[in-house]
Amino acid sequence: MNAEIISVGTEIVLGDILNTHSQFLSQELAGMGINVFYHTAVGDNDRRFTAILQTALERSDIVFLTGGLGPTTDDITKETACELMGVSCRYNEEIGARLEAFFARSGRVMSENNKKQAMVPEHAVILQNDWGTAPGFIIEKDHRTVVLLPGPPRELQPMFTHRVKPYLEQRTNGIIFSKNVRVFGIGESSLEEKIVDLVTSGNPTVALYAKTGEVLIRVTAKAPSQQAAEELVDGMILQLRERLGNTIYGIDIGGLHEALVHSLQQHGETVATAESCTGGMIAAQITEVPGSSEVFEMGAVTYANRIKEQLLGVSRETLETVGAVSRECAVQMAKGLAEKSGADYNVAVTGIAGPGGGSKEKPVGTVYIAVEHHGRVWCEHYYFARHRNERDYIRTQTCLNAMNMVRLTIEDPTAYEVHYES
Ligand code: ATP
Ligand code: MG
Repeated sequence: MNAEIISVGTEIVLGDILNTHSQFLSQELAGMGINVFYHTAVGDNDRRFTAILQTALERSDIVFLTGGLGPTTDDITKETACELMGVSCRYNEEIGARLEAFFARSGRVMSENNKKQAMVPEHAVILQNDWGTAPGFIIEKDHRTVVLLPGPPRELQPMFTHRVKPYLEQRTNGIIFSKNVRVFGIGESSLEEKIVDLVTSGNPTVALYAKTGEVLIRVTAKAPSQQAAEELVDGMILQLRERLGNTIYGIDIGGLHEALVHSLQQHGETVATAESCTGGMIAAQITEVPGSSEVFEMGAVTYANRIKEQLLGVSRETLETVGAVSRECAVQMAKGLAEKSGADYNVAVTGIAGPGGGSKEKPVGTVYIAVEHHGRVWCEHYYFARHRNERDYIRTQTCLNAMNMVRLTIEDPTAYEVHYES
């Protein structure tokens, strides 16, 4: 089943608002195993909208139309779609009464214009809008389906979840269920190599999406019942775990920062940060997660050498000989932090985020990350190769890798013995 999305609204094509509906609907539909092949945005203009919808009806099984269901004259979606599909509209008493009640509740008078929202395309499935005024519709004709949804995101999103999704599930004769597997520390192409046979599986399907510094694997199954679909998905995840080991850091989770906080909570342990080139990003990410106060002891942004020395006890000799961006400095930062924080894991980062400050020996992108755990320190040297937005990129990569190193240490403190220094 192929779908496409047409977002109607002059404010979208003028750039006044961002078209978030295309993203939301695409993600939801992908999760249901429905392919989305086109996104279009078009202004509130009859002629151009008609042309786009005509094209869409020729090439897609389901066309989603968003916006333009409101009461004003620039809201043309329903009328134009009905005209093109050769479907007439009729006033629906029940919806009319609902609208009147809605207005009465909010102490407003219903204008004549609003009656337009009670006009219903014949044979359409009415999608009751409990989050606003304009109902949505599903029109099916000649093997083509058009789904109309109101523009405001706080209406469109619950309408999709509670009205459209059950309808689509029923139509596809089964439950479509998916889970997102989050992977860090392996590139997209080497990952694909490891699971190439699984990627071609039919049910469940396995799809890879590269994200900043990581890969997301979406596993989607279709089955007659929820339980059967979940079993298929979980079976596939088990196989992925066998192949990918601890590069999988979580299932259906927001990101590494969430995985890290949850893991610390489960172990009843704490973390602290000392950051140079990331300027507090790691601490900010960790504290973004609700409940992080249980596991986060402190974060220090130690930019100046003097502060690295005074606050963290980095030796002057280190700073004067090998410099602040060095293995020695990172290790000393982590140890000094441990003394101050008393946390179970103390992570320190130091590096050159650019664009200036690089040298032949230490080019921009050179980063050292050290994790102290109960007296032992694991330190890694990274080189984040040049990139278009290099400063941003290097800082983000440093942040993600630092959180990942802590996560790996929590999962198995002994597996990294080879890495520990002193
Ligand atoms: P209303 O009854 O509020 O007029 P409507 O169905 O007619 O609803 P529009 O008038 O097209 O919808 O849009 C209403 C508001 O919804 C817009 O001002 C905008 O804030 C938001 N909106 C519309 N389309 C989108 C979109 N594609 N992405 C994000 N927001 C949108
Ligand atoms: Mg409107």
